[in-house]
Amino acid sequence: MNSILSAKGLEIWFVTGSQNLYGEETLKKVAQHSVTIAKSFNTAAQIPVKCIFKPVLKSTEEIFSLCQEVNNNADCIGIIAWMHTFSPAKMWINGLKILQKPLLHLHTQFNSDLPWKDIDMDFMNLNQSAHGDREFGFIMTRMKLNRKVVVGHWQDKKVLLQIGVWARAVMGWNDWQGAKFVRFGDNMRYVAVTDGDKVEAEIKFGFSVNTCGIGDLAAVIDDVKETAVTKLCDEYAASYKLATSLKKGEAQHQSLRDAAKIEIGLRKFLVQGNYKGFTDTFEDLHGILQLPGIAVQRLMADGYGFAGEGDWKTAALIRAMKVMSIGLQGGNSFMEDYTYHFENGNEMVLGAHMLEICESIADGKPSCEIHPLGIGGKADPVRLVFNVSPGAALNASMIDMGNRFRLLVNEVTAVKPKQALPNLPVARVLWKPLPDMQTGCAAWILAGGAHHTCYSQNLTTAHLIDFAGMAGIELTLINKNTTIHQMQNELRWNDMYYQHNNK
Ligand code: MN
Repeated sequence: MNSILSAKGLEIWFVTGSQNLYGEETLKKVAQHSVTIAKSFNTAAQIPVKCIFKPVLKSTEEIFSLCQEVNNNADCIGIIAWMHTFSPAKMWINGLKILQKPLLHLHTQFNSDLPWKDIDMDFMNLNQSAHGDREFGFIMTRMKLNRKVVVGHWQDKKVLLQIGVWARAVMGWNDWQGAKFVRFGDNMRYVAVTDGDKVEAEIKFGFSVNTCGIGDLAAVIDDVKETAVTKLCDEYAASYKLATSLKKGEAQHQSLRDAAKIEIGLRKFLVQGNYKGFTDTFEDLHGILQLPGIAVQRLMADGYGFAGEGDWKTAALIRAMKVMSIGLQGGNSFMEDYTYHFENGNEMVLGAHMLEICESIADGKPSCEIHPLGIGGKADPVRLVFNVSPGAALNASMIDMGNRFRLLVNEVTAVKPKQALPNLPVARVLWKPLPDMQTGCAAWILAGGAHHTCYSQNLTTAHLIDFAGMAGIELTLINKNTTIHQMQNELRWNDMYYQHNNK
């Protein structure tokens, strides 16, 4: 795999609020403390991006100018704000009004413990975040600004973990701003949930979605050199358990070459157009020999967002989730709730797609196979077939409610298939939805969740809650605590809330 994803060069700025009331000596100490904290965040394993100290802010003008700098600096993706002393919050109004990047409010204190014997008024005046941060919190709440609040000593592992989760959500959010997604062909005909308002999505999320005729892609594929195809086929043979019929000199080797040609052409098209993800549809493949299978699986593994049948919302979500999880073990894939195992007491979902499950979630070396597809009327497509390892995971689905977007999350437990599936020609995963099959599936259906999702092994609900907060959209969660009664009420209440608060 050749990942196109990187967090290199991304920065979170560490911003400390104070005022001129305390004199030089105190402000010097405030700055020293902030430098120490920023440096420790900069090297913390839990935080995936650089953390940069910024000079202590003491006035309306300094705050406004810092917020301008944050907006204009391409490396800075968000800020951590901490009121070490008391920073009167009216000074923050104009700056916060223009701030366009996510903010984490860190409610911490330089000292962990009270210096019981030595505490005096100097200590009290220097370490005032207990009330300074409340003043700051008030103005953000008063201005109805979204932010994450993290409380605790800055060296506490739980605090570092929460900052890291937020920073990952910021990475995904930052990646969406100005991102381009391409659809080869339109939506699958008559399908509702995969369709939606692309204009509203661009306003809300910052990415654009546009369509190219499949013929434009076919032309790029046709142009691929045979030497490049041979090289990629060798790579397939080295990376996967290649089915005998696909090997050099065997009956279906030409199909492997056709698949490799599609991958090279598709990749070239995406690079040339600076696209971060794409969709295709089996209904519109004019000029393409096979429905792209292995090509899509490998492009997803390299970091491109993808979804089938023109589902641009899922493609964009998968891209964001891949960016959020840079450097983490495990993967994120396009997924579809495909078929059920309704054995009493052992109910589970078999998730798969026609072909396009991302190699990043494969348990072990995939096999590269060729089988008929049954729909689409094209040649048999080459695909990677594998199982997925057991463990905690989640499914996330972005849907368009007409007047807003909803991000729906179901926490699940993936399980090892008890028996072999020798005739199933696609990558697959078995999972048990939380809290149980009946409640999990009923809640999903009541919430209008799609059959397409991003299946994640390495992100948690916490990442997606922060992400939805940045986007200003609803997040509906189905987990071990969900009951249908509570879910129905939450959906009704949210309908009311978003009628009044949809910016
Ligand atoms: Mn589908």
